[in-house]
Amino acid sequence: MLDGIIGQELAKRYFQRAVEGGCLAHAYLFHGPAGVGKKSLARALAQALVCNTAENNSCGLCPACRMFLAGSHPDLRVLDGAEKSIGIAQVRELQQALVYRPYGARHLCLVQEAEGLTAEAANALLKTLEEPPGPVLFILTSARPERLPPTVVSRCLKIPFRPLTRDEITSGLETMGFKGDMVPLAARLAGGSLGRAAELAAGGDGLDWREKAANMAEEFLSGIGTAELFARARELGERAEMLVRTEYLLLWYRDLLLWRETGFEGLLINADRLEQVRVQARLADGPALARSIATIEDTRKKLLANVNVRLAAEGLCLRLAGLAEEDGYDRATGWSTV
Ligand SMILES: [Zn+2]
Repeated sequence: MLDGIIGQELAKRYFQRAVEGGCLAHAYLFHGPAGVGKKSLARALAQALVCNTAENNSCGLCPACRMFLAGSHPDLRVLDGAEKSIGIAQVRELQQALVYRPYGARHLCLVQEAEGLTAEAANALLKTLEEPPGPVLFILTSARPERLPPTVVSRCLKIPFRPLTRDEITSGLETMGFKGDMVPLAARLAGGSLGRAAELAAGGDGLDWREKAANMAEEFLSGIGTAELFARARELGERAEMLVRTEYLLLWYRDLLLWRETGFEGLLINADRLEQVRVQARLADGPALARSIATIEDTRKKLLANVNVRLAAEGLCLRLAGLAEEDGYDRATGWSTV
């Protein structure tokens, strides 16, 4: 039933049994990092439940499967908080639909990136989760479940999704038709996310950004002028871009520290850039690299908490270049960088 899903063996085994045993809960929350298969599994499960021909599986060919794949199956409702928040009107519309008898055995409601529910919408949804008006399966997916109201979370059976292993990502990329040197490299850099790996393998922003992160680190470690420093801060981009880009910076600094502390190539994510790692790791001591890593992590947390992006980027670059103290006082210019 869920053979096409890469990894997540525990979740797959659970649903295989639950479907065969007819003991599905009525609401699930799939939580875990982005790009590890939450939405794919939710859709595969939902399709297996609507398919008319294959028992506890989907055939992809019957009318129900075709409607499902075209997004027009009458029992399927999808709310998606990825692009913009899910408002109360959308939840009301969903609730209206649930009043009617489903076409098949049950209504299927996928609430993707459920942290995008507004407080009002989440509150309205809560009532339906508590007392569904008829046969319905809710699957909420979220990479940030801590942003969901605890009352909503507590109504769902929580299914954890784990970062994928490199082997799983490699096989996922190959299934998607990627070939060549890019596959192992993307699998290494993707931090357990097949979605990210696919972006990298397709030549997205990622590889450029690894390059840039490596060069930035070199400048920060060997000394950088103020004008260049502020230019680098601007290059980190807007909030969403900066979150991705600082991840590359983080991975790079982690490698510098790992190499410095262990000298073991097998631990490095950027093992193919060993020479550059080796040179840069000599430019700082262990505690300084550890502080830089903490600074990047701290900046990423602030970005998620909606701080001013420009200030966060400049503060980060100043600290990484050793031009600002951790308390936010900038030695070089006397500016406050908090
Ligand atoms: Zn079918």
